[in-house]
Amino acid sequence: MAFIPVNEPLLDGNEKKYLCECIDTGWISSEGPFVERLEKNMAEYVGRKYGVAVCNGSVALDLAVEILGLKQGDEVIIPTFTIISCASALVHRGIKPVLVDADVHTWNMDVTKIEEKITAKTKAIMVVHLYGLPVDMDIVNEIATRHSLYIIEDAAEAHGLRYRGKHCGSFGDISTFSFYPNKHITTGEGGMVLMDDLKWSQRCSSYRNLCHSPQRRFLHEDLGYNFRITNIQAAVGVAQLEKIDHHLQLKRALGTHYQALLSGIDGLTLPLDQTDYAENIYWVFGLLIDRSVEITAIDAMKQLAEKGIGCRPFFYPMHRQPVFRKMGLFEGEHYPIADHLGEKGFYLPSGLTVTAEQRVYITQQVSELFSR
Ligand SMILES: *Cc1c(COP(=O)(O)O)cnc(C)c1O
Repeated sequence: MAFIPVNEPLLDGNEKKYLCECIDTGWISSEGPFVERLEKNMAEYVGRKYGVAVCNGSVALDLAVEILGLKQGDEVIIPTFTIISCASALVHRGIKPVLVDADVHTWNMDVTKIEEKITAKTKAIMVVHLYGLPVDMDIVNEIATRHSLYIIEDAAEAHGLRYRGKHCGSFGDISTFSFYPNKHITTGEGGMVLMDDLKWSQRCSSYRNLCHSPQRRFLHEDLGYNFRITNIQAAVGVAQLEKIDHHLQLKRALGTHYQALLSGIDGLTLPLDQTDYAENIYWVFGLLIDRSVEITAIDAMKQLAEKGIGCRPFFYPMHRQPVFRKMGLFEGEHYPIADHLGEKGFYLPSGLTVTAEQRVYITQQVSELFSR
């Protein structure tokens, strides 16, 4: 069997047609009709008033933090188990990330540990919906309201995910998405910031494009960025969004099939298929090796690679990142659940093109590895 990559995008809708439109009309920069179409369609899909498309999901977080006006010395509560983009959007601006451990069952931030981290300097809670299940938002909303904190919602892995029936991406004062090729829908590289406040959306658009003054181009009252997305990328995104329901179905089928094939293997914990507030959309299908089993995620991945199976390790927790330790951050802090996830978690090929036959082969190799 040929090597099975950890991810492969599915581009079988109107992508080619819309890309040809870009070429035929000459609109290949960030000017051009598909950018606004993607913003409008995505905002409508998620149930937000405004969307501002940007060149990736990491800078979407940078913009979110910028727009909220957070400053040096402020604190923002984030999960330690996440991608570095969440922390770097803060650290680059002198804002202190304050960490919370993961929940042992959902792998998302443990919402029962948020409140003890709030100080007079806390300005926001950054929630990150991980691997296909949402953060328990009722609890976060209640805490944020009681302490007058903003919610920044990183929904980069959560297109089409619902919490108690409501779309992820609709819970933050500002919410962000990524359209990287391993997400449910892709633009190659791309992202979006979503909100309901008109002023914020205007500031977002301005910061995305160097903060040109409305009075005169090349005159700048504020310091912005070039975070623009191209019409070409947005054209792919518009086509992808047309097929999101199909992509969600494919991922659910992948997840439930893996669940059935892998149930009952000693030493392995599978993701939850659902909780009382959500059904897993299986952004990826993660596996967590029990503490009692000697093998690490990196060992397991090496052995599976030899069998032609591409895997990826889980995120590595923020409190263990050398770059932050060098800055003197998080010294003496311990987050045992996140440590376990970082050392013993990895995910199987989870793209939209993995066939049922490949899933059978993959899971046979996994159960062989763990029966040894
Ligand atoms: C993918 C991802 C991002 C970053 O997106 P890019 O488009 O790759 O910059 C941010 N947060 C989370 C949780 C992600 O999974």
